[in-house]
Order: sequence, then structure tokens, then C-alpha cells
Amino acid sequence: MSLHFEVLSTSGRARRGRLTTPHGVVETPAFMPVGTLGAVKGITPQELSAAGASIMLSNLYHLALRPGVDVVERLGGLHAFTGWSGPILTDSGGFQVFSLEGLRKVDDDGVSFRSHLDGSPLRFTPEGVVDLQSRLGVDVAMILDECPPWPIDRGRAEASWRRTLAWARRAREAWKGDHGGGVFGIVQGSVFPDLRQRAAQELSQLDFDGYAIGGVSVGEPDADRRSIVEWTAPALPDDKPRYLMGVGYPEDILHAVRQGVDLFDCVLPARNARHGVLFTREGVLKIRNARYKDDPRPVDPGCGCPCCGHPWGVPRAFLHHLSRSGELTAAVLATLHNLRFYLDFLGDIRQCISLGTDPWPGIPGDRTHESDTIRLDNAGLPGSGTLPLAERAAHAGRHGHLLLPADRPDAQASEGVAAGGGGLEEG
Ligand SMILES: [Zn+2]
Repeated sequence: MSLHFEVLSTSGRARRGRLTTPHGVVETPAFMPVGTLGAVKGITPQELSAAGASIMLSNLYHLALRPGVDVVERLGGLHAFTGWSGPILTDSGGFQVFSLEGLRKVDDDGVSFRSHLDGSPLRFTPEGVVDLQSRLGVDVAMILDECPPWPIDRGRAEASWRRTLAWARRAREAWKGDHGGGVFGIVQGSVFPDLRQRAAQELSQLDFDGYAIGGVSVGEPDADRRSIVEWTAPALPDDKPRYLMGVGYPEDILHAVRQGVDLFDCVLPARNARHGVLFTREGVLKIRNARYKDDPRPVDPGCGCPCCGHPWGVPRAFLHHLSRSGELTAAVLATLHNLRFYLDFLGDIRQCISLGTDPWPGIPGDRTHESDTIRLDNAGLPGSGTLPLAERAAHAGRHGHLLLPADRPDAQASEGVAAGGGGLEEG
């Protein structure tokens, strides 16, 4: 079977949908936890499933370098290899290859590069990349695209899109889908509205199984990223899933859902967890802060994850202690929590759309104020305790406290490159 997508209901442009794949059903809008190497860092497939994930994202570039597609194929494909039995989407690695500044050479036929691990030479072509993903047996493959940097002038952005479109044609032609999965096209066009819209229309004519908005989370301002989504999403076919690559913060996801986006991935929940930064229904909580030294409360009393839940949850003081001590268990518990937060958040969004109403507040844009956590009951929002998580998270963001730029772990030199994306960061 190939992919099947249906829109069950709408609220404004937001869509409540269902994506059926060879390895299971994905209720959308959905968040795809990032398991770059085949596993979400620190988490077993069983824990990922228990947290509510229905689909995992992995990365062809990293898997092709190590352990190699041959090894995975011999062991029965990516599902058998990783133990994750649900749907898998693999990114092609175009984003990673194009962040290999100085190590890659692109021509009209493809891109040659050197492995960032051992310097060995490799080549990706549009046909080769979909073939490798087919051999991995994934449910959703992504085409090879040229991901231009930000900023870029219009002429270069347009030339880059021409190449990506030519590659998209070749990839569509080459995709066999022997295992029943589907292949998604990727819209580029940088920050130029007419280019994005034209790109969406041109790509749509190739009849992909779904369409992604790429070239975001490459350093562009928040306002530009949102504009790109607003121009592009409505220009994509109504009857196919839409995927916003590498985004992002809860308020960014909410904004994109309202523009009709169905699928999301981001390294943020897991990466922030490893830095002791926790998403909660009351805002962001930095567990290493001294104020949690003897705090008996769970991280988020409204959360049912193994870190917070009754009767087995732990007090903030314990997580503070483990995190300050650099203990591995702190990262595991925090990751379980943050993933659950994101997955619950998307579940609430789906419920909001199903209700056929638009209960969400305006989209927040300001997150520059210093604060650790915020108290919604002090923020003048009546009845906040009963609000859906989507609304509370958006409210928290609107008051500026979802995450501070200075706190963004991706700003730290030791990890990653771009907000939510991350170059060669392994998720
Ligand atoms: Zn929790």
C-alpha cells in the first residue's frame, strides 16, 4: 500500500487529518520526535511509544555515513534495525550536506561531499537518495533538495530553486516505493513570497505524496519564518499532508497549524531536556536554577510522564540534583517529560480542531523577557487551570517566556548550528 491522507475536519485553515502508512496511522497535526541515528537520544522505542509518539523521524545522511545503508538493509530495514515498529520518516540529509561548508561540491547532477566523521568521499544524487531511503524501508522518504543559507539574494535563491525543482522531477521519477511508502517534495525559495508560491505550485504538479516547507530554521528571524509558512502552506494541495521541517517552539507550531500545516519535527524538546530546560503548562522551567534545590513539586503537576506522574514521579529537587550533577538519568527523565509535553500539546491541538471551534488565543511573538516560569493564574487569564494545553502554552509564549534567546541551547557553541534544525547535530 502507499500513503493515504484524509482531512477529517477543519477549523479555519487548520486541519485535523489522518495519514495512513504501511507501519501505522498518524493522527495529524502530529509531532515527529527526532531520532537522527535511529533512536531519540536517551529513549527506548517502547518509551517513545508510551509517550504517545506515532511516528519517528530519522536521517538518511547520518545513517548512510554510519552504519551504512547496506548494514541496515541486511538486518531487515530500519524498523527491524531500530526496534521502532511505527511509521518512520527519513530526511534526505540535504540540510546536513548543505551545511558542510567547504566539504561539499554541488553540480547540476548532485552533490559530492566528505563525511564529517572520517573525511571519506560520498555523493548524493536525487535518484540515489530516494533509492537509499527505499532500501531502508521507510514510510516517508524526502527528496534531495538544495537548502540555501540565510540570508541569500533573490537571484541565487531562484537559481537554487530551479536546481531543487529539477532534482524533484528526477526523484519523483526514480521513486519506486517498493515497500509501500511515499515520497515528499520540498518547497524552497528562501524569504521571497512569489518564489515560495511559485515553488509550491510547480512542485504540486509533480504529484508527490506530501509536501514539505524547507529552508526554515536556518537563522532567519521569527517573522520571516512565519511569513514563509503563511505564503507557502495555502499554496500546497489540500488533499496531501504538509510538513514544516525543523520547527520549532510551541507557539511556532501553533501558528503553522493555523496555516494548515500537518506535520512537525524538531530537536528542541530532546535537546533542551539535556540542558535541563523543561517545557511545562506554566512556561519554561530551568531545572538547574537554585530555586528548585528543595522544591517538592513535580516538574509539571498536569503531566502524566514518568518524570511527573503519580505515584512514581520525582520532585523537582531530585531532577535539580541529578541535572546539576551531570547524571545521565536527569537527561532521560527530562527528555521523557519534554517529549510528552510536545505530544500532549499536539493532542490538544487536534482536539481543538475536532471541536470545530477556534479556542486558541493570538499567536505570541515576544519571548524576550527574563523569567523562569510564569504563573498563569497571576497572568489575568480566568480559569486557566481548565484551558487546553495548546491554549495555555500559547498564552505562556505570548507573555514572553517560552524560551529566552540566551537560553537557547542551540546558541551554545558545543551543540548544533541553527534554531531547531542543527546542521550536523545528531538530534
Ligand atoms: Zn512530565
